[in-house]
Amino acid sequence: MPAPADAHAAPKAANFLRSIIERDLDAGTYQGRAFAGSPGDAAHHAAGAPDPAKIRTRFPPEPNGYLHIGHAKSICLNFGLAHDYGGVCHLRFDDTNPEKEEQEYVDAIVEAVHWLGFDWNANGTSHLFYASDYFDFMYRAAEALIGAGLAYVDEQSAEEMRASRGDFTTPGTESPFRGRTPAENLARFREMRDGLHADGSMVLRAKIDMASPNINLRDPTIYRIRRATHHNTGDTWCIYPMYTYAHPIEDALERITHSICTLEFEDQRPFYDWLLEHLADLGLLARPLPRQYEFGRLNMTYVMTSKRKLRQLVEEKIVAGWDDPRMPTVFGLRRRGYTPAAIRAMADGTGASKTNIWLEYAVLEQCLRADLEGQAPRAMAVLDPLPLELTNWAEVFGSDTHVEPCAAPAHPQHPEYGQRAFGLSRTVWVDRDDFAEAPPKGFHRLFPGNKVRLKYGMVVECTGCEKDAGGRVTKVTARVVPDTKSGTPGADAVKVKGTITWVGADGIEATVNLYDRLFTEPQPDAGGRDFRDVLNPASLVVVRARLEPGLAAAAREQRFQFERHGYFVADRELHGPGVPVFNRIATLKDGFAPGAQAA
Ligand code: ATP
Ligand code: MG
Repeated sequence: MPAPADAHAAPKAANFLRSIIERDLDAGTYQGRAFAGSPGDAAHHAAGAPDPAKIRTRFPPEPNGYLHIGHAKSICLNFGLAHDYGGVCHLRFDDTNPEKEEQEYVDAIVEAVHWLGFDWNANGTSHLFYASDYFDFMYRAAEALIGAGLAYVDEQSAEEMRASRGDFTTPGTESPFRGRTPAENLARFREMRDGLHADGSMVLRAKIDMASPNINLRDPTIYRIRRATHHNTGDTWCIYPMYTYAHPIEDALERITHSICTLEFEDQRPFYDWLLEHLADLGLLARPLPRQYEFGRLNMTYVMTSKRKLRQLVEEKIVAGWDDPRMPTVFGLRRRGYTPAAIRAMADGTGASKTNIWLEYAVLEQCLRADLEGQAPRAMAVLDPLPLELTNWAEVFGSDTHVEPCAAPAHPQHPEYGQRAFGLSRTVWVDRDDFAEAPPKGFHRLFPGNKVRLKYGMVVECTGCEKDAGGRVTKVTARVVPDTKSGTPGADAVKVKGTITWVGADGIEATVNLYDRLFTEPQPDAGGRDFRDVLNPASLVVVRARLEPGLAAAAREQRFQFERHGYFVADRELHGPGVPVFNRIATLKDGFAPGAQAA
């Protein structure tokens, strides 16, 4: 199979982030700034060479769960912008919170970003970083802020602090501890660090403005006491920085130019700038400083993008695991058969905007079809098998055991993929819904008296069917029309309105998982609804299907178009020699109705 088209290379539509970057590049905002090859403070970078990266972005996951489609959007955006503008994107584990992080998630995130097609190695350096490696600097910066009178230790209770913060209409009131001298604050902060005070007994706060209309500027907490073992730093620290303090510093140490986050951080931007400006003034951070830009979150219909709710699906065994093919996690999408290129195309197509967006799930399916249409090998499959017996077989071919060899291109546009071979036999399998005893209007497939073409095979004329005691059809009978084999001069002599797919006696039996949306509602958790009330009972239908013989050799994760049925993938865990297992990725069209097709 040829390499898939490089979706990274496709031209992308303008959006506000691209405009900002282009403006910065035109203005030379980041030109000539130094980068020491690794994260560090002002002195570290001052000794470095001019940065070979024109811009620096980052994807900063908290390693506390599996990545989902919303994260994939952020990955594609950040790595994509760096790629498009001669920059570098860092993968940074935002692991400053000691409680929730685990190595399992770190490994899974690394694998997911790689699978999506992105890499953080550039200019001979790996740009994979851990925010917890910056704890020493964060502590030093906090002491510097204290020394400059820009931070103080507050011993009010959490309750008092909440009450004195005010609200949107009421200004806050100043803490009684706000007037302490830098020396007093420094001593107290060192005691906090040295474990002399209980968890929650005091915090370090930035000293900004208790009357600010932006509540985030009313002396936000920047350090708290928390006795917890950290996965990277162990028990070295019993104080930990708050996210709003840590994140801007992480960006600055790594010399990020464009720090792109989701809209809910918009109100944090003034603090982001306040903090970095002061630390640069204090000589600790290199200028030019990073700037934060917010874009709208990606939500997708029929899925949920909250780690907490996805965890609930797993823990309550509503799905089989984090990589269940119905999960909107990167691993779920992968197992389902989605291609990295399709996910990147979805992300690129949604660009970046200043409002949260709801994307139709069908758009992702459409990206998948667009990617696979031109490259996935074709195969015939019968998902609901019903035997079709060709009663005049021996008359036509001299023997009931005769097998008529048939062939079809592996892909209609790729002769270099070669031919598929399969045999037409006295009994073949057809899909149950390709037969109707009493055909509805416009039905051109098998019904008594009608002729159809078995695709790539011969024309047959239906003669009837057999039924069990319950009236269910158990077999369809037909007569093969001699000299009508596809590709032979006689093929066009008999005109038919219907062509159906089939599998001969040489086909294989396989488990096929027919996946559909997990929920019946486009916004399963909207308005506080319990999403368990809108589960789609038919989100997984497992069938025993018949597949053409060549699929016995399918590799795990190999994708196919099953003609007339959709796109399918050999399951990456369960498929193997002698145990074929395929997952439906998507049908061929929304609301696809099987119908006549030319051979
Ligand atoms: P969740 O709300 O599911 O827990 P999160 O935002 O807390 O996700 P992080 O690990 O902090 O998870 O996210 C890493 C990055 O991914 C952040 O920059 C965040 O803004 C981005 N991100 C997360 N969800 C989305 C989304 N739905 N659309 C776009 N970006 C997202
Ligand atoms: Mg988060």
